[in-house]
Amino acid sequence: MKKIVLFIICLLTAYSVLNAQKEGLTSINKGDLKAYMTFFASDEMAGRETGTPENDASALFIKTNLMRLGLKPMSDGDYLQKMPFVETSVDIKERSLKIYDNTGKVTFSTDSLVSFSQSTKTIEIEGNVVFAGYGYFDSTGYNDLKGIDLKDKIVLIMTRTPVSAYSNEKGRVFNERVEGKKLGSIFMAGPKAVLLVYDPKNNFKDAYASGLADMIPASSVAPSTQGRRDMPFLLAFITQYTADQLLKSTGNNLAQMQENIKREGKPVSTEIQGITTSIKIPVNTRDFFASNIIGIVEGSDPVLRNECVIYTAHFDHTGKNREGKINNGADDNASGSMVLLEVAEAFMKLKKEPLRTVVFAWVNGEEKGLLGSQYYANNPVIPMEKTLVDFNLDMVGRSKLPSDTGKFAGYDLDVTQPGEIMIYTAHESSELMNLLNSAAQESGIKVIDKGKDLGFGGSDHESFWAKGVPAIFFHSGIHADLHNVGDDVEKIDFDKMEKVSKMVFLLGYKVANQKSRIVVDNPLKPQGQ
Ligand SMILES: [Zn+2]
Repeated sequence: MKKIVLFIICLLTAYSVLNAQKEGLTSINKGDLKAYMTFFASDEMAGRETGTPENDASALFIKTNLMRLGLKPMSDGDYLQKMPFVETSVDIKERSLKIYDNTGKVTFSTDSLVSFSQSTKTIEIEGNVVFAGYGYFDSTGYNDLKGIDLKDKIVLIMTRTPVSAYSNEKGRVFNERVEGKKLGSIFMAGPKAVLLVYDPKNNFKDAYASGLADMIPASSVAPSTQGRRDMPFLLAFITQYTADQLLKSTGNNLAQMQENIKREGKPVSTEIQGITTSIKIPVNTRDFFASNIIGIVEGSDPVLRNECVIYTAHFDHTGKNREGKINNGADDNASGSMVLLEVAEAFMKLKKEPLRTVVFAWVNGEEKGLLGSQYYANNPVIPMEKTLVDFNLDMVGRSKLPSDTGKFAGYDLDVTQPGEIMIYTAHESSELMNLLNSAAQESGIKVIDKGKDLGFGGSDHESFWAKGVPAIFFHSGIHADLHNVGDDVEKIDFDKMEKVSKMVFLLGYKVANQKSRIVVDNPLKPQGQ
């Protein structure tokens, strides 16, 4: 008898909880999501790149929707959290490498120079050039750097190693492991610049042919308050033709130098006589403001409202490509941003707010390096110690299409099937995982748990992890259109977006509304503490 009473009470409680969420849940629908997405990922938004008028306009779109839905702004009365940034960009057309003879006459000049590092100011270097083979050394005693003085020199090295250049190994665009080790020891010798050139046995002639030039962003954005450190030396790729010009006075071209190393079985490193070289990389800077957008659903409990659950999604994208074509960023991350709007509406439709506060943060500058979420984590509306969990959504709109084959920047594509979503989490709280599983079940979506390590790029939940705040990152997978012109609304699975919206709404509601704070049984250590 007792058991039955208990069972009925349980049922009633479950029913009233479900019922309390019902008004919210029924407001979530794919029609809204499609309408939002059609605007937000349109060509008119020009790819929403941080620092552009269209990025400001997309922030305004979110802000005005929050006004319409009735969310609270921050304590200063605004929804926009303004951040000071500085943009630095290389004046590509004005880059130059010049070779001078003994009399100071320019004998060669080129603008084919692809610099790796974003400097905060114009770089101007002049000096003697040292050819240092592959810049390689190993335990067999082979050492391209032995007995040559690199201090204040411009050092020219080839990619790869004396062995790998002659193996059947396909030349890679840039082998970080091999080149990183070489650059590390060259750096210790204090050069002014390191010029890299693809070894002549490589299948690439230069950084344009390998695609590396396209991978290096033309500009970079950073918080203007943060003193940025430049790399202590310039690192740039030159063409094999330029390398041949630099080597001219040795009587050998680059291919001959490579053959000499092979034939003699030892380094042929040498300071090149009779020339000096100057390099100029002009850098322009621009100061501007960009915004995160913050909307608040204040908790109904006078004490617990000082704690919060936060939803994050970055609303910026990568703008236009080099040909001026727009990357619309429908999946990345109009999808997560518009899910947040739909979830915010669901919370506003509830008859009673949850006990705790729910914060919605559309963060900016993710594509520039998680800038907006880092700014928020340092300037939160509710302190990080009182932030129970971050639910971060970045790319939640795609299901596997026939075109999703191959790799993206070396990573396997892992787009989920319809009705599936992946999560990345450090499993900080087993209670949270249980709540997630029941929310997923109620929403009819299958969750694939990928653990903590992303294996690619990153996203804004990492700014919360850095503060020791538990987080779950929701993600539908890497597809063939990532950061490309094909990331369009037409390829979005709205059914999936609706299910994701319902799941994260239910999950956030459960965490925000239960009397006890979720137990964090496996906390992450905040960074720098
Ligand atoms: Zn993204």
